[in-house]
Amino acid sequence: MLNVDKIREDFPILKRTVHGKPLVYFDNAATSQTPQIVIDAIVDYYSNYNANIHRGVHTLSQEATDKYEEARIKVQKHFNAKEAYEIILTAGTTHSINIVASGFTTLLNEGDELIVSALEHHSNIVPWQMLCEKTGAILKVIPMNEEGSLDMKTYHQLLNTKTKLVFCNHVSNALGTVNPIEEIIEAAHKIGAAVLIDGAQATPHIKPDLQKLNADFYVASAHKLCGPTGVGFLYGKQEWLEKLPPYQGGGEMIATVSFKKTTYAGLPHKFEAGTPNICGGIAFGVALDYMNAVGFENIATYEDELLKYGTQELLKIEGLRIYGTSAKKTAVISFNIDGIHPYDMGAILDKLGVAVRTGHHCAQPIMDYYKIPGTIRASFSFYNTKKEIDIFIESVKKAQIMLS
Ligand SMILES: *Cc1c(COP(=O)(O)O)cnc(C)c1O
Repeated sequence: MLNVDKIREDFPILKRTVHGKPLVYFDNAATSQTPQIVIDAIVDYYSNYNANIHRGVHTLSQEATDKYEEARIKVQKHFNAKEAYEIILTAGTTHSINIVASGFTTLLNEGDELIVSALEHHSNIVPWQMLCEKTGAILKVIPMNEEGSLDMKTYHQLLNTKTKLVFCNHVSNALGTVNPIEEIIEAAHKIGAAVLIDGAQATPHIKPDLQKLNADFYVASAHKLCGPTGVGFLYGKQEWLEKLPPYQGGGEMIATVSFKKTTYAGLPHKFEAGTPNICGGIAFGVALDYMNAVGFENIATYEDELLKYGTQELLKIEGLRIYGTSAKKTAVISFNIDGIHPYDMGAILDKLGVAVRTGHHCAQPIMDYYKIPGTIRASFSFYNTKKEIDIFIESVKKAQIMLS
């Protein structure tokens, strides 16, 4: 069981007010809030052992290197990757996807096929379109249906011997749908295609076991997992990370450099050019420790209660439609109300202290499917409460009256 009152004490930001009202933070799918223990880790780094890593013989550099490599192992253990060097610490999901998409430039031929799902965030669409432009590969799309789930029958029909790569999110950020990635991965592997899973929206709620899942690549961002912004990871199976060329050239990623020939460093450093977000990486490790102490089973059970309660209460509002009604979803509710533009609703909710997201949520193809400009999205975290949902519902009702 989760003690929400106690958990809320860990997050200083939850005590603040917005426009004189207590903050109700329901934009967790965009970024999560930061517990004091993670803030303390950031302060501790800059106060006590700020130094560049992997270079100095001096004490501070050793301490920073040890902590950074410890963080990598925390990520490895948390997601059960086989080897620590299969975890590349990156600037986040977008950066991780670009490393893989760019690397495949040398591995694809004209006419090769890539498969993407209709439920993707732009960051899991655009890098692949750029790859197709460079290589002449063709992008195919797994369609979605009215409830916001993938049309798996069409997926199986799209797979063929020309398919080289499939990429899909584990959970849709716009709708909350949990995708059947086990089935997607297994079917792709049968025809020899590699699979990249975007876990940015899943990892705050689900603890995937990467060895069991067997995806070739899995990526996520720390800032949705109670960690800082600008850091995340790329997991890749060793064989794939060895096959892919480096993404950026520079310091840290080389073994030897001369003007005749430069040789690259081994994994994971081959993909970690330049001074990384050292403090961010260390704080990411602390955030994972924090979330594990809360417990992912507790988180899932509690957030599901919030989702059910929020859905039930919202549906009592006249003219309200929820987008994304799959049986398997995380605590994200995307909705619209007849005759009200999402942006106007979002602006009034803000005046009432309620933070939600409005717009296309970086997933325009989903909005196109429903023929809407965007939605209002409330996304819950384990530190939210039913009482906050009540405030949110009252605020939506008030805004509805003001806007109609
Ligand atoms: C947030 C998100 C991203 C992008 O993450 P960044 O941290 O901005 O790189 C990609 N995909 C999904 C599903 C997301 O929720």
